[in-house]
Amino acid sequence: MNTNAVIAIHGGAGTILRASMSASAEADYHAALHAVLSAGQRVLADGGSALDAVSEAVRLLEDCPLFNAGRGAVYTAAGTHELDAAIMDGSTLDAGAICCVTRVRNPILAARRVLERSEHVLFTGEGAEAFAAAQGLEFVEPEYFHTEARYRQWQLARGQQRAMLDHDGATLASAPSSSDDDPTPHEPIDPNRKFGTVGAVALDQHGHVAAATSTGGVTNKQVGRVGDTPLIGAGCYADDATCAVSTTGSGEMFMRMVAAYDVAAQMAYRNVSLEEAAHDVVMNRLPKIEGRGGLVAVDARGNVTLPFNTEGMYRGFARIGETPVTAIYR
Ligand code: ASP
Repeated sequence: MNTNAVIAIHGGAGTILRASMSASAEADYHAALHAVLSAGQRVLADGGSALDAVSEAVRLLEDCPLFNAGRGAVYTAAGTHELDAAIMDGSTLDAGAICCVTRVRNPILAARRVLERSEHVLFTGEGAEAFAAAQGLEFVEPEYFHTEARYRQWQLARGQQRAMLDHDGATLASAPSSSDDDPTPHEPIDPNRKFGTVGAVALDQHGHVAAATSTGGVTNKQVGRVGDTPLIGAGCYADDATCAVSTTGSGEMFMRMVAAYDVAAQMAYRNVSLEEAAHDVVMNRLPKIEGRGGLVAVDARGNVTLPFNTEGMYRGFARIGETPVTAIYR
């Protein structure tokens, strides 16, 4: 039994505007992260697999409207939602992913089914939805994914007639104030300038690691655009021999750097620690092509690292029997 079992999660990275921060919003984020970590921790404490722990954590993050995945996902240029997710089992290198789905309530559960029940790794669009339907997964109307906050973000990005990576657009920093029914009022990380992808990595008591990542993508993205999240090696990677990694940030740069796999590859080929490999990818390599964001990673010894090159990242980790640790800022 591995006594270092641990789960780590993220809920997006980006620019913090202290002026727009409210104590209650900050508390909401900490509470949401804490609840998700507690659920993942329970799975691990009960002897569950890392794969089960990351599936459950990401499913809960998808259901929480505070984050840009599942309910609360951002809008495409056509005013729709297109969701991407991936999951990988470090004990077998099995992987599953789906992209551009519009009605699957929990994309991570569809990705898990791809991992477990398909000979393929990645399904897109209609084919992905047909696969999810055949697997009996829950479908929702597109309105389910709507939140006022993301809709307003989309309106702002549209007004600028460009795709808006969440961290871009300093002019958007002074977005109109929130309405009363807004589920994400005054969130600590400016919603117009953050990456809201969610993800989880875990090491279980059996010594296996797994990773899962899920996103709505970036606001006002072109229909059909796919980012790093559902691409094995870019937004998600897991191998017992090295580590499990889930990323968030400017997807195009994470794809070009094959960021998640690079952490594992550096450990394998350069024989460096998890911490050193992750630090190099996030602090040295990604910034060279203006890649912004961060990642969470664990290795098979139970080391955890949560580096980011933005001002903040919603994040946390929990070991069995210990109080979960959550954080937002540097
Ligand atoms: N990496 C995601 C994407 O490019 C965005 C994010 O992390 O929020 O789709």
